[in-house]
Amino acid sequence: MTQKILFIGGLGRSGSTLVERLLNELPQTIAVGETVHLWERGLRDRERCGCGQQFADCEHWSRVGAAAFGGWDKLDLDRIIDLRWSVDRSRRLPQILRALRNGVISSDQQVYLDHLRAVLLASAEIAGGTEIILESSKHLSTAALLSLDPALDVRVLHLVRDPRGVAYSWTKQVKRPEADDQLMPVYKPSRTAGRWVSDNLGFQRLAAEGVPTLTLRYEDFLAAPAQSLASITQLMGLDQPVDFPFLDGDRAHLTTPMHSIAGNPLRFGGDELVLRLDDAWKTELDPSAQRIVTTICRPVLGRFGYKR
Ligand SMILES: [Zn+2]
Repeated sequence: MTQKILFIGGLGRSGSTLVERLLNELPQTIAVGETVHLWERGLRDRERCGCGQQFADCEHWSRVGAAAFGGWDKLDLDRIIDLRWSVDRSRRLPQILRALRNGVISSDQQVYLDHLRAVLLASAEIAGGTEIILESSKHLSTAALLSLDPALDVRVLHLVRDPRGVAYSWTKQVKRPEADDQLMPVYKPSRTAGRWVSDNLGFQRLAAEGVPTLTLRYEDFLAAPAQSLASITQLMGLDQPVDFPFLDGDRAHLTTPMHSIAGNPLRFGGDELVLRLDDAWKTELDPSAQRIVTTICRPVLGRFGYKR
């Protein structure tokens, strides 16, 4: 039997944490966060879990480590971190896509996947045999790598947001509560725009390789949350109709705890979410920066329904 994984993909600041928190309310799911960061940020740097506790003190993750490996201390962490960087990063994407096409997985890819799969399966087991794991690493390379594993049934929710909104978000200083309020990196709009083009085209390529994918604009999600969640549950293969009792107009009342690795500070927000589009970029992002982003993204803006 394969384990279903809903992979939340897309460029950072495209609404993935909000969507993840809403999907985590469904009884059929469990959110694990960004497993790509488990080894370094969770295990090595002991950052905080989504529940607020330090990773090492979180009972949920201790149980996952015990079920997966007989305890996290049984792992050769340095080796796994090396492996992660040798198989799961953007520049390794051509190798992963080749493996996806010819079905030949390298030994490094295999060993890394074995570790990742153990964590995912243990998470499902600890949660009482959860039907669907929400994986929100976002990275295209992680989505492609997980798709190589025949024991996993990976479906991708590809989130896209107006690149001018994404670019503006990456110019703001944001604290990381899970890491003593260190600041998240800040990027120039031109850099974000380049990433926006390559990432979004990359997810389309992955879909063309046969990975089941739903592309959803964050703006459309917020305009019709219930309808959007219904499309996502369809992608997950859940029987319709699924109720979303946590939705209340443009608000959501959350009750399910989330033990997630890394991710946006919104993870630590309250249990009340306002589902409203933040389009501050229209007035706050410098017009010349808006023009730069528009110019760089112009060849693909129309493909995702944005104004050129
Ligand atoms: Zn926790």
